Amino acid sequence: MPSVSDAPRETRGINWVALIFIVSYHLALLVGMPLYLLSNTPSWSLIGWTAFLLVSTLLAITAGYHRLYAHRTYRTRKVVEGIMVFFGTLATQGSVIRWAHDHRIHHSHLDTEEDPYDTPKGFWHSHVLWMFKKNKPIDERYVKDLLKNKLLVFQHRHYGVLMTVTNALVVLGIGWLTGDFFGALVFVFLLRLFLAHHSTWFINSLAHMWGSKPYSTEHSAVNNFILALLTYGEGYHNYHHTFATDYRNGVRWYQFDPPKYLIWLLEKVGLASDLKRTDRLIIKKQLVQADRKLLLDHLNNLPEEESSAFRQAVEKMSDKLSETIVSAKTVMDRYRSVDRTEDPSEWEELRERFRTLRQEIQHDLKTWRRLCRLVLDLEPVRARG
Ligand SMILES: [Zn+2]
Ligand SMILES: [Zn+2]
Repeated sequence: MPSVSDAPRETRGINWVALIFIVSYHLALLVGMPLYLLSNTPSWSLIGWTAFLLVSTLLAITAGYHRLYAHRTYRTRKVVEGIMVFFGTLATQGSVIRWAHDHRIHHSHLDTEEDPYDTPKGFWHSHVLWMFKKNKPIDERYVKDLLKNKLLVFQHRHYGVLMTVTNALVVLGIGWLTGDFFGALVFVFLLRLFLAHHSTWFINSLAHMWGSKPYSTEHSAVNNFILALLTYGEGYHNYHHTFATDYRNGVRWYQFDPPKYLIWLLEKVGLASDLKRTDRLIIKKQLVQADRKLLLDHLNNLPEEESSAFRQAVEKMSDKLSETIVSAKTVMDRYRSVDRTEDPSEWEELRERFRTLRQEIQHDLKTWRRLCRLVLDLEPVRARG
């Protein structure tokens, strides 16, 4: 296996390359944009190219770097990999191996000092400041699978050159096509980089601070529709940290998640396979468990004599619901494995049992939701003054 470990570095030192690059391009945009607009009006073709490259690089990061490589939520053809790695290189967020390495540690050490994105230290640390610390050497245990991919090892080894050359060629190419080199530099490079960077950085900062936690309160990740728009589909972060192997972040079809639609589309045209989806019943069970924790936490704020009956009801109801959901999952798994033509009676029996269990779950969920509202309406003792 080829070694791609970075040379050992002092982990507390400053990453001057990242610091100078990020500060410089922000300043260049701040000066370059007004200067450009004072004497030029951007053409529609320049705006179109900027939008195309913004969307392509964001999709390469979300559908490629994140869901394909960091989490292996689906498989795809080499040609798609090549396109994703090209646009990912253009996105200027480091190599796939470095990105996936840090991201996998983010998931396994979330909300601790080990998290490379500094999640516990607040907005600015997890948004951008973490990048100004020197990278820790790559721990190959986290990226063993990626180190077997020759394309990714090549990209990692030559990342600096590849990133510079691809960006320079794209800016020069679009400058030549539009006849506007200054515009290409300001829009296609500086503005595109600014928008795409902050979009990705919001996932590490705001998506751990601002939103709801329907799937789990065990970690800091949150769901937020506005963030889904800002991060191009990665705003359902509470779901993602709870079910990281799912190729979807917005699990419901209507939740804004362009990488999910792209991966689905790739599957439909035969360019992607093995899309990993968390079973609906497993998701339901997790939702009940998250509600249960929320309710019990809420009841802890009430006097024992008022809360004990509710506590028993919450525990009993959630246990029953979880058991029924597990039974339904077992029956469904069996049903899927039975061949209808070989064993029609068992197939029919399993289908009926699943239907009965599903009705029972639907009925119990209605009762559960009523209980949730009832408990959450109880006034915590602190609020009574
Ligand atoms: Zn996260
Ligand atoms: Zn992730």
